[in-house]
This record gives sequence, structure tokens and C-alpha cells, in this order.
Amino acid sequence: MKKRVVLKPGKEKSVIANRHPWIFSGAIAQAPSFENGEILPVYSHQGEFLAQAYFHTQNSIAGRVLSYTLSPIEQVIEEKLIKALRLRESLVLSSDTNCYRLINAEGDGLPGLVIDVYDTAVVLQVNTWGIERLKPLILQKIKKLLSPTLIYEKSLSSARLLDGLAPLEGVIEGQMQEEILVKENGIVFAVRLSDCQKTGLFLDQREMRAMIGSLAKGRRVLNCFSYSAGFSLYALQYGALDVTSVDIAKSACDQAKRNTLLNGFSLERHTILEEDVFAFLTHKESFEQDLIILDPPAFAKKRNDVPAATQGYKRINAEIMRKAKPNTLLLSCSCSYFIDRSLFQHSIFQAASEAGRSVRILQHHISAYDHPISLYHPEGDYLKSLLLHIE
Ligand code: SAH
Repeated sequence: MKKRVVLKPGKEKSVIANRHPWIFSGAIAQAPSFENGEILPVYSHQGEFLAQAYFHTQNSIAGRVLSYTLSPIEQVIEEKLIKALRLRESLVLSSDTNCYRLINAEGDGLPGLVIDVYDTAVVLQVNTWGIERLKPLILQKIKKLLSPTLIYEKSLSSARLLDGLAPLEGVIEGQMQEEILVKENGIVFAVRLSDCQKTGLFLDQREMRAMIGSLAKGRRVLNCFSYSAGFSLYALQYGALDVTSVDIAKSACDQAKRNTLLNGFSLERHTILEEDVFAFLTHKESFEQDLIILDPPAFAKKRNDVPAATQGYKRINAEIMRKAKPNTLLLSCSCSYFIDRSLFQHSIFQAASEAGRSVRILQHHISAYDHPISLYHPEGDYLKSLLLHIE
């Protein structure tokens, strides 16, 4: 009999009914000897075929499902890439937007894989052994589908370390470009793959940047944790009186400046401060701006960080609420996977209460179409935002 993984009685429910793509080590009754990343068929205790998954010998998430059918994996990968591209073509790609996430891991049925596209360049993020082994096949399919001029790997996630994979970054194929110019809703961004955060841009905040654009007219804008100035550029484009961006990283501030000039805005209208936001907020006595964005990095990188992270969110939000003018709009975000919507909202509530201000929620987060979240895998839902009105 071919190698197979057999689940404990009752554990098939998670795979069949819940279609959860993760198989925990505790659910496995029998497994053959296998190499990390090997794809094995999974069966219920009664001998019913459930899925094909790739497995890891040490990770507590022992298996990650690639398919609920017995189709050849090559076909599975090709079909998922094509479906993912069709979704982006219908909802994201346009003459104004040519940067997007093609594969959002579990959200596109390919756990462990992230693929972002920047015009004709493809950036691959491989987070697991399973995807590492499938890499040659994935590359072959991507070439067929997109004919990219450059394929770059940026596999630096902490998930990789859990799988025993070293960080990896560099050109896989094609001609390295110092800088790639892309458009998002008509706004130009220069992306430097070798010197950037994430894979280049925080594509997941596209819709929220557009929302800030829609609110910016006639307002003065403060963008905290601004990275390459995404929110700021939208505000400048849509009529903000002036914008101040604050980021601790020099490279981010350099990119912010470059992007400002590329879009034809003057640096007189856009002040870029290379500074720690915590110190900046503490030292300010009041804010002259009436549209403020707080989009910090994930404060909780692991479960144990949650208490300190919630304090961090409370602190920066309270600092703004205490010092904001009446009628200020505050967009407050969290990308901490371990802090869910209600916990985030609770931190914001505590901030408002501590600041003694009347604060209302005007809008909730709008997800980007190219970051789908599988209903069967709610763990993929990490990003949340609240648009608040400080009376
Ligand atoms: N809003 C951005 C993405 C923000 S990512 C966008 O739409 O593109 C978070 C940013 O916070 C990073 O650029 C990082 O350099 C910056 N950062 C992290 N810690 C910081 C701190 N203590 N003070 C200021 N900036 C910080």
C-alpha cells in the first residue's frame, strides 16, 4: 500500500466538514516515515480518503492541505494559480493598479506560499518546507502564467524558522532591477526589493489608503508609521492641505521622499520625520492635524506578547486622543495576528476612556480583494482598522 497518513477516529471532521487546512500532530494515528515537506495522502480511521497534504516531522502543524482531491499536485498548483490570477484580474488589476498579491497562502488554498506581483516582477515568499520542495514546480507555473522579467525570493518570515529553514533572499531568475516603479490606484511607488519591508509594499492596506484619500480634502494629515508614505501620497493626491509622515527607518523615509517627488508633490507640503513614533507622540503637546493615521508594525509577534502589545496600542491611541483637536478623524490599525478584532477594539476603548474623550467608530476595516481569507481558516484574518471620530 502507498504511504499514507491516517487520522485518529473523529479527527476527520476537521478536514472534511471544517475544511481546515491544518492537520495537527495530535490528530494523527499513523504516519509512515517521510521527509520534511513530503506530500502524503490523508485518510480517516475508516479508510476514507480525505486530502493531500504536505507534512513536517517536528512542527505541531504537522500537515497542511493542498487538495481535497486525488488530482496530481502539478494540476492542483496550476489550477490554484490560474484561479487566483482570474480573481485579481477581475477585482484589482487595472490600468491604474499593477501591484497585487497573487497568492495569499491559505486564502488561496496554498498554505505556506505568498506571491506578490510588482508590474512584471514576481516576489515569492516561501514559509514552509512543503512549499520549498514545490518551489521548482511553482516557478515553472508562474513563468507560464505571467512571463515575468524578474523572479525574486524574499523568504525571511519567522514561520520559516519554525520549519527549520534558513532565511533566503535573492534573484531566482531574470534581471535584478534596482527599483521597480508600480502604480496603485494611479499613485506611483518606487519599490526596492532588496531594501524593503514585507515584499516591497503593504499591499493589504490598499483599500484603507483609498479611504484616507477620500477623506483628505482640506484636512491636515499626520501619518504615523508611514513606511514609504502610502497613506500620505493618497492624502496629497486628494487634496490634503499638508501631510506629516513619521517613521523610524531611514530607508522608509528615503522611499517616502522618493515617492513624494515621483508623484509630483512638493516636500513643502509633505514633511517626513525620521523618528520613533512613541517619542514623537509623547513630546507633542497637541496635534494641529485633523486626520491621523496609526498603522504600526505588529506589536504582538507571538501569543506571549499580547498583554504588552495591547498596552502598546492603548498607549499610542491614548496619546493621540488626549491631544487631538475636536473633530479629529483617527484611522487606527493593528496587524497583530494574535490580537483579534474585539481585543483591538477593547484597547481602543481603554485608550479613549483613559484620555477622557468621546470617541465613535465611523468605519471598520475594508480588506483588499487580493488578500482573501478562507472561511475555513479564520486565522488568516490578521489585519483590522477602525476609523474613529474624536469629538
Ligand atoms: N502604513 C504603511 C505600512 C506601515 S508598516 C503603508 O501603508 O505602507 C510599519 C512601519 O512602522 C515600518 O515602516 C517601520 O519602519 C515603522 N516603525 C516600526 N517601529 C517604529 C517606531 N517605533 N516608530 C516609528 N516607526 C516605526
